[in-house]
Amino acid sequence: MPPPNLTHDSSLLIIGAGTWGCSTALHLARRGYKHITVLDPYPVPSPIAAGNDINKIVEYSDNNNNQDDPISFAFHATSKAAMHGWRNDPVFAPYFHETGSIIAGHTPDTIQYVREHELFPSESDYVKLESARDFRATMPEGVLTGEFPGWKGWWRKDGGAGWAHARKALVSAFEEARRLGVTFITGTPSGEVVSLVYDDNNDDDNSKDVIGAKTADGTIHRAEHTILAAGASSDLLLNFKKQLRPTAWTLAHIRMTPDEAKLYKNLPVLFNVAKGFFMEPDEDRHELKICDEHPGYCNWVRDPDPDHPGQKRSIPFSKHQIPLEAESRVRDFLHDTMPHLADRPLVFARICWDADTPDRCFLIDRHPEHPSLLLAAGASGHGYMQIPGIGGFVADALEGTLHRTVRYAFRWRPETAVDRDWGDTQGRFDGPNRVMDFQDIGKDGWTAIRYDE
Ligand SMILES: Cc1cc2nc3c(=O)[nH]c(=O)nc-3n(C[C@H](O)[C@H](O)[C@H](O)COP(=O)(O)OP(=O)(O)OC[C@H]3O[C@@H](n4cnc5c(N)ncnc54)[C@H](O)[C@@H]3O)c2cc1C
Repeated sequence: MPPPNLTHDSSLLIIGAGTWGCSTALHLARRGYKHITVLDPYPVPSPIAAGNDINKIVEYSDNNNNQDDPISFAFHATSKAAMHGWRNDPVFAPYFHETGSIIAGHTPDTIQYVREHELFPSESDYVKLESARDFRATMPEGVLTGEFPGWKGWWRKDGGAGWAHARKALVSAFEEARRLGVTFITGTPSGEVVSLVYDDNNDDDNSKDVIGAKTADGTIHRAEHTILAAGASSDLLLNFKKQLRPTAWTLAHIRMTPDEAKLYKNLPVLFNVAKGFFMEPDEDRHELKICDEHPGYCNWVRDPDPDHPGQKRSIPFSKHQIPLEAESRVRDFLHDTMPHLADRPLVFARICWDADTPDRCFLIDRHPEHPSLLLAAGASGHGYMQIPGIGGFVADALEGTLHRTVRYAFRWRPETAVDRDWGDTQGRFDGPNRVMDFQDIGKDGWTAIRYDE
């Protein structure tokens, strides 16, 4: 079934006003599409959006050593477009801090992993960090006070790496899209999509096209083209044939004093691939975010969907607390790097969901059986840094002009998910070195933080 004609007057519906949904709305509006509606159960920034965060890592290298690999080619293409936006687009540039980054490991395996997989274009572009003293010297005196036991790292001082104020850039994309005429319907029930709507005029279930989406208030939003960009929750709205694994990570904040916030300014990102990472405190509330690193948590339940009864499935849920074991990992990271902060109370924490594809490559393609449905999902833990540019790739996919190799890498590819190993750590380390299950965390196994608004 060919996709319906696309003109600037076509009705376009985007499900999800998160990182990719807002980027897509912005790019489509800039291309002149006049009838774009975005649905989300929460006002922007949604408290469950992965992109609603005080900071995210941004990285890019001009050189791609592996141009022959379609996934590497495609990721390089989106990252290049993103970096152009971070540096030049007034919607995003104010929120980008090109402060450099440090990438590290602390065991022979993780150090080897960093050397083989994380240094772009080559090791010689980095300053090698061999001792605690080397690490401490990367930041003003008094920031890094730890012993860095076993750590070895590589410091990228030049451009191409740093961090972005994630929430502010997300809101900026939303505001610009709205200024250009995009309609946002947010809040529950009017913005909460409960199902896609299929064309009832066709009796064959497999070739029924999608003609829009239904929201929790019962409204049917009809559209000529529907774009599913609901992050990890996309998996609840369509059978992705195991291509998406909703997986959560954990983040925690501690509060810094105004003087500490001044000292902790313009820092490179410090990232140990098996322990966690931090960036400078946010400028408004002086909160320092720490993410502990691990292969992620799923929430395994038996599938409630009557179409595949009893199958094992990870179902996202929202929680502004983290498991106590994650708090311990956060404190362990602080002990290694900044022991003077290691016992400070947490003032905020949450679990944060994303969706992993089997190869951690994005999924941006029309659905083969529902040609008016375009999927923009599977951000696989590295989709935030793409916000300035990813909507342009979604727009290209809609218009049928996506670069051939990128299109191949981002294609609908259920063949890669047959007999999927749900426990695959996908190149991530630490914690117990396996994907964990929220079902194993008892009700007393969570933090009990009262966030002071
Ligand atoms: C702890 C953590 C740290 C990370 N760090 C980084 C990093 O440093 N750098 C990086 O590049 N990436 C990072 N990521 C990954 C990145 O945040 C995600 O890949 C990216 O934000 C995903 O964007 P998205 O638009 O797919 O999803 P989201 O930003 O989560 O947006 C999904 C939207 O869909 C909406 N939605 C949900 N259900 C419905 C529904 N039924 N109807 C309508 N709308 C719905 C939600 O409210 C939300 O607004 C991190 C992720 C986590 C969890």
